[in-house]
Amino acid sequence: MKIKAQKRKKALVIRLFTKKIPKKIRILTHTSGSDDKIAIFFQILAIFFQILCLYLLHCLLLPLSVNYHFLRTCNYSCGFCFHTAKTSFVLPLDKAKYGLQLLVDNGMEKINFSGGEPFLYQGGRFLGELIRYCKDELKIKSVSVVTNGSKVTEQWMIKYGCYLDIMAVSCDSFNHDVNKKIGRCTKNGKNQFDILHQIRNWCREYNVMFKLNTVVNRFNFNEDMNEQVKKINPIRWKVFQCLAIEAENIGDTALRQVEPFLITDEEFNSFLARHKGIENLVPESNIAMRNSYLILDEYMRFLDNTGGSKTPSKSLLDVGVQNALNKSGFDEKMFFKRGGKYQWSKEDQILEW
Ligand code: SF4
Repeated sequence: MKIKAQKRKKALVIRLFTKKIPKKIRILTHTSGSDDKIAIFFQILAIFFQILCLYLLHCLLLPLSVNYHFLRTCNYSCGFCFHTAKTSFVLPLDKAKYGLQLLVDNGMEKINFSGGEPFLYQGGRFLGELIRYCKDELKIKSVSVVTNGSKVTEQWMIKYGCYLDIMAVSCDSFNHDVNKKIGRCTKNGKNQFDILHQIRNWCREYNVMFKLNTVVNRFNFNEDMNEQVKKINPIRWKVFQCLAIEAENIGDTALRQVEPFLITDEEFNSFLARHKGIENLVPESNIAMRNSYLILDEYMRFLDNTGGSKTPSKSLLDVGVQNALNKSGFDEKMFFKRGGKYQWSKEDQILEW
């Protein structure tokens, strides 16, 4: 996988710099006749360009997989939430589409829409249109969404399911009281696992791959979820260690306070050990999570987590993708190490439910 991505990266740079310029230099060298000094000059120039290309190749970041948190508002109130409703801003649809086009031009192969709760805005129509645009017009290989599931409807699945590769639903417990303690529900809302089962069935019906996300925290780290998860059988079960992010869920300006939810590495590992029999479990410790995601916020700014808080770049709409990416803090090696590149398109997957 990694080799493929590097090949694509190479192709981008090579297309830009290596083929045309050195070739022209070589032609000039040969046509410079008997003048040895000119020939040597052009040969040195060719070497210089090759070194320059290698340097650019090293610097170029490929936004292979991007998480676009296009809104921050949510109808749930998870106590550890680290992408909180600091603004209610959402880009106009045409600008969001333009930004996605720029990302594709720079090598993006997977887009994940997230929030906040992405289905909350315009009753899911905005999300649906972005998903359709990405799959139908931009031909992006993998289009996915992460949702709490509470606002997903069958009508939406009928209309947009054909453009969607993966739907990930978050559920932290199969005990309603635990989800209530966490805030993973609305005040009068349904059980989160009822929502999970409903969406799982729609995914089967409308040919969308189903993924489960769980945040392991103080209230659920002792739970045994084996039976329920096996029953649901997601294509991937992402198990995150509850994470603190300055100014999001920790610190004076934060809208949430994560401290009562945090667990130790040993507690996280004990949860993983209890569920080691589940093949599709993908664990994500705090270290793996911090810098291995390309996170784009509601203004299309990359968020750099390296300092323990989210420092935004300038918007890629203003400075272009590569300039914005340079401020993203993205650790490409960690992305591949945590298995960030996987079978993420339903075209590659034989759906056997
Ligand atoms: S569902 Fe919970 S974690 Fe997700 S955005 Fe809403 S409040 Fe945050």
